[in-house]
Amino acid sequence: MDFNLTEEQSMIRDLAKNFADGEIIPRAAAADRAADLPLDIHAKAHELGLLGVNLPQSCGGPGLGNVELALVTEQLCRACLGIGTALSTNGLAGEPVILAGTPEQQKEYLGRLARGGFASFALTEPAAGSDVAGIRTAARRVAGGYELNGSKIWISNASLASFFVVFAKTDASAGHRGVTTFIVERDSPGLSVGEPLGKLGQKAAPTCEVFFDNVFVPDANRLGAEGKGFQLAMETFDQSRPMVAAFGLGLIQRCCDEATAYARERVSMGKPLIEHQAVSHKLAEMAIRSEAGRLLTYQSAWMAEQGQRNTVQASIAKAYTADAAMWCATEAVQVFGGMGYSTEYPVEKLFRDAKVLQIYEGTSEIQRNIIAREIARKSA
Ligand SMILES: Cc1cc2nc3c(=O)[nH]c(=O)nc-3n(C[C@H](O)[C@H](O)[C@H](O)COP(=O)(O)OP(=O)(O)OC[C@H]3O[C@@H](n4cnc5c(N)ncnc54)[C@H](O)[C@@H]3O)c2cc1C
Repeated sequence: MDFNLTEEQSMIRDLAKNFADGEIIPRAAAADRAADLPLDIHAKAHELGLLGVNLPQSCGGPGLGNVELALVTEQLCRACLGIGTALSTNGLAGEPVILAGTPEQQKEYLGRLARGGFASFALTEPAAGSDVAGIRTAARRVAGGYELNGSKIWISNASLASFFVVFAKTDASAGHRGVTTFIVERDSPGLSVGEPLGKLGQKAAPTCEVFFDNVFVPDANRLGAEGKGFQLAMETFDQSRPMVAAFGLGLIQRCCDEATAYARERVSMGKPLIEHQAVSHKLAEMAIRSEAGRLLTYQSAWMAEQGQRNTVQASIAKAYTADAAMWCATEAVQVFGGMGYSTEYPVEKLFRDAKVLQIYEGTSEIQRNIIAREIARKSA
């Protein structure tokens, strides 16, 4: 067992770290206030080769692995969860194309991502989030393809996407076996995108509704077989949840860094906060969660990279880091006292940003359902 990063992994981690420190941290608060993704940051990250590092070389990507992707993701999200999420969303949208795309689909759509384009993953609907099998967007067979009707909500980067990976029902009576996946061009007649939704945190990452009104999708844009969409979504999450764990890891590390620096500086009752045991124990707890989260995240990413089934490990990593990030952000605000509540210091943003980690890509409750189901299956 070797826990060391390779030279290449250290290099890409350091590149991402320097970029995050130099380009993202100084702009994060303003991007959050403006609720706007600075597109020049996206362009610079693309230029440096920090986006889509796992895209296959055959499609113009760097062809690195899931561990490298996690290392980069962690650094971007340490700097700003909003900007980091927006810069990482293509990973979620691209994964189904990597897993199930034909060579032509991969060349076209992964190629767009490798050239710096945006895409969105469109699964959640107003009446069905955790209940994936309950989606209602309908895909009706017509000559030469399908016609989509329905709507999606909370779709990250929808305002920027040039295409959407959309999950819809080809058979409304077949439950999860009736779900099929489609690649839908943004400029398809009948497709429209709503204004970005107002949010508690992660404001620099746009999230919108998407509407389908008799949208024609040609047969060539069906992704995988009819009825295999639910399975494809679950296989996608096995790849993407370690990355959401890396989002949480970045946020946890930032809480550790900010709270430690403040606790060294701020004096109370004649000594720095860090010398008060009640405060230093909070920092120790953050370090415990950071180390444990890091091991879980890298392990689940590594398993995905090795082609091993990682459903449980991905859910454990995602649930653990999400809950730990929320805990660390709450305690970081506490270490800052009143200043933790002020928009002048970064920890109130960490607190607002952290919450969504327990919600998207499967809530913390759903991760526990998955873990419990897998334990029950194994012990049966
Ligand atoms: C900022 C943001 C970005 C997002 N980006 C995307 C995106 O790009 N693409 C996309 O498709 N979706 C996206 N989502 C949607 C997200 O994945 C869903 O919000 C999430 O899966 C929860 O679904 P829901 O909101 O419908 O909540 P519900 O499913 O209604 O859940 C409500 C509550 O009930 C609990 N609950 C529900 N069912 C169960 C159960 N069976 N057992 C135990 N507890 C249960 C949940 O854990 C939760 O606490 C995003 C959401 C947000 C907030």
